[in-house]
Amino acid sequence: MNSAQQQELKRLCPTVRWQVDMAAYSTFRTGGTVEALVEVDDCVCLPELLRWLDTEKVPWQTLGGGSNILFTSGQHQGVFIRLQGGMGDIAWQHVHAEPGKPEQQLVDTGAGVSMALLLAWCLRAQLSGLEFMVGIPGSVGGAVCMNAGAFGGTISQRLFAVRCLNSRGELLDLPAAALDFQYRRTVFPLACTDKYIIVRVSVCMQPDTSEAIKGRMRELLAQRKAKQPVGVASAGSFFKNPQGDYAGRLIEQAGLKGYACGQAVVSPRHGNFLVNRGGASPEDILALMRVVQERVYESSGILLEPEVRIY
Ligand SMILES: Cc1cc2nc3c(=O)[nH]c(=O)nc-3n(C[C@H](O)[C@H](O)[C@H](O)COP(=O)(O)OP(=O)(O)OC[C@H]3O[C@@H](n4cnc5c(N)ncnc54)[C@H](O)[C@@H]3O)c2cc1C
Repeated sequence: MNSAQQQELKRLCPTVRWQVDMAAYSTFRTGGTVEALVEVDDCVCLPELLRWLDTEKVPWQTLGGGSNILFTSGQHQGVFIRLQGGMGDIAWQHVHAEPGKPEQQLVDTGAGVSMALLLAWCLRAQLSGLEFMVGIPGSVGGAVCMNAGAFGGTISQRLFAVRCLNSRGELLDLPAAALDFQYRRTVFPLACTDKYIIVRVSVCMQPDTSEAIKGRMRELLAQRKAKQPVGVASAGSFFKNPQGDYAGRLIEQAGLKGYACGQAVVSPRHGNFLVNRGGASPEDILALMRVVQERVYESSGILLEPEVRIY
């Protein structure tokens, strides 16, 4: 950005920060710097910001909790927009979606709200339906973008509608039926242009007791802890599971558990977790990714595709 553009960005978003180290914004705890980072609590300023970015042809990206992103080294030109959110962004509505059908319990949340906070809110409100998401870090918007899920469930199964802004700053309310949900990917319709920011999400829930909800969450968390490394710097499963198989099983079969490139290592606990064991550079992680892809291809004929978004 030239200095006039920097001044205008500062006018539009007074809290903008420059040359931000993205390691702090990625659960991999490594990454390059971004020219400008804009963190927003409410989305009032976003339409004007997006229109300006579009007119000025300044590149931009959206960031949630950074739990599925690897930022490469060096400087990333343009603006990263990060949504934030708290309890006050969550509301509960009772809706009669169709005449004669039972009332629906819709939970409407800001997309920047963390999944953990949404689940805690639902537990308090005695609303069930998203327990399978327990232990998935990141934001609700990020979860919808990735069609995140676990234990056979995906967020798309609970999604009622999303509100998003396209790159021209136009607000669009889309029912879940307008979206195409794929494995770890949600495809938005053309009206969203090539880029969009999800700003609100409505999910369909059902009443249950807090004891039952808590019990299910405890059980699923215990299952996670039994299989996955805990408290490490990673992005969860690095590769998508190929159809009918598990990336973790193929990586283990290729003898790669514990294999390291620099400070990046294949978790000895779960083959599909590439872990920064302290001081790994993005290049270490990318080198490890390539070794895993090559070795798994040699041993199984399957080319693993990253689930993690590489920026
Ligand atoms: C320990 C661990 C365990 C995990 N377990 C699971 C699991 O069981 N299942 C699973 O599916 N995933 C899992 N993940 C991956 C990750 O947590 C999920 O994909 C999560 O939903 C990503 O959310 P995020 O806010 O961190 O997104 P980010 O990583 O910030 O972004 C991911 C993508 O979403 C886009 N995005 C983010 N917010 C928005 C928005 N508001 N509008 C438009 N685009 C947006 C970004 O541009 C990027 O392309 C795990 C990760 C970790 C670290």
